[in-house]
Amino acid sequence: MRKINEECGVFGVYREEEAPLLTYFGLHALQHRGQEGAGIACADGRDITCRKGCGLLTEVFRHETLEELKGHSCIGHVRYATAGGNELENVQPLAARSYLGCVAVVHNGQIVNAAPLRRELEEKGSIFRGTSDSEIILHLIQGGTGSLLEKIEAACRRLEGAFSFLILTEKNLYAIRDKNGIRPLSIGRTAGGSWCVSSETCAFGVINARFVRDVAPGEIVKFSASGAESFFYTKECTHRLCAMEYIYFSRPDSMLEGRSVHAVRKETGRRLAWLEENGTFADIVVGVPDSSLSAAMGYSEELGLPYEMGLIKNKYTGRTFIQPTQKLRDTGVRMKLSANQPVVEGKRVVLIDDSLVRGTTSRRIVQLLREAGAAEVHLRIASPEMKFPCFYGVDTSTRAELASANHTPQELCRLLAADSLRFLPDSELCGACGGDSLCRACFTGSYVTPLFGCGESAGLAISAGNAL
Ligand code: SF4
Repeated sequence: MRKINEECGVFGVYREEEAPLLTYFGLHALQHRGQEGAGIACADGRDITCRKGCGLLTEVFRHETLEELKGHSCIGHVRYATAGGNELENVQPLAARSYLGCVAVVHNGQIVNAAPLRRELEEKGSIFRGTSDSEIILHLIQGGTGSLLEKIEAACRRLEGAFSFLILTEKNLYAIRDKNGIRPLSIGRTAGGSWCVSSETCAFGVINARFVRDVAPGEIVKFSASGAESFFYTKECTHRLCAMEYIYFSRPDSMLEGRSVHAVRKETGRRLAWLEENGTFADIVVGVPDSSLSAAMGYSEELGLPYEMGLIKNKYTGRTFIQPTQKLRDTGVRMKLSANQPVVEGKRVVLIDDSLVRGTTSRRIVQLLREAGAAEVHLRIASPEMKFPCFYGVDTSTRAELASANHTPQELCRLLAADSLRFLPDSELCGACGGDSLCRACFTGSYVTPLFGCGESAGLAISAGNAL
């Protein structure tokens, strides 16, 4: 069940001409959330057609493949999974057909009680096609009683963990967010008045839609011919949006729970700068493209140090953090970034990175800057030390992988060959995000839900070896 770790994006459109094309564009804006698989399911009022495959959205959907999708309502998915979990049967949407009709589902997040639920369902006769935890919701719905809405509500009450689901039937679309709101999900409206739903608001602009509101924790929004209706499957709801959505995952032009991702990142940079005595120890500020640029701007503005383009990103490679194996991640860093020698040569550089996960990327970037002639490299991380694995849909699955779980900042500074190293304290992260209503379990070890045994298998009680 370890292969269920993923960080994905979902997008849906309800009753709109060109729904498959709009879903394609929406997913394209979410491609940064997963590059190992993509798919779209399309409903025409009588049936659901599904097309999906492994790889980037543009690889899966050529013009003729998109043409095969006929209908007015769609849900789509871009997928990331750990090694071994990216088989075609796990690529979403997952669709099921029964005497009750067709249902397709897409999911962003991770169900932490997937193993016991799966065992229970298999004992009752359910047969699973893949290893994805997302399939569990289909089986729970199928085994339920009452209306489809009642079945979905009952299924959600059985699930623990992080889930933003879209469910498509022949006629309706449902948008669902877990009771802690760990993964984002927002509602928009197209220029033609149709509803759309997305993991991130950045996808609305691409299809000329406007943001309406977020799906609330514990909420089920049903889109039907009668309009949009809101239901809650539980009253025990909290706001615990994943802090890493602000720090790394989401695009800077997205809004999360009313806050601009760019503005929050800039504020983390400002707060990092408050920790310095003054700005005389460095000549320039350089951010690691792309997710650290906002924080680097805030840091540079606050200290009055010039913000410089000291690193150049090759835009045609994937994100290293979400490559599935260590070997691919190592290669990814070398392919992805170059130091801008005329800018950094002879300079004392403050290097701003959004987070320090495995350390591989940071170590290589410090090395790149030194090879380009930087006189000093002072590394500043715009988030706290990441010491604990995530069980809510992010690929940091064991403590052994996490550099900060195994080394003090002083040790890390030496291992990364930096001249100094500083992290943003947890209190300052909360300040930048407007409060502590966030999941910050990977920094604090305080998990939002019970873990149903995931912690032991991830080495939470084990002190592991060198992560670098
Ligand atoms: S543990 Fe960390 S990465 Fe996982 S949901 Fe919580 S804040 Fe996000």
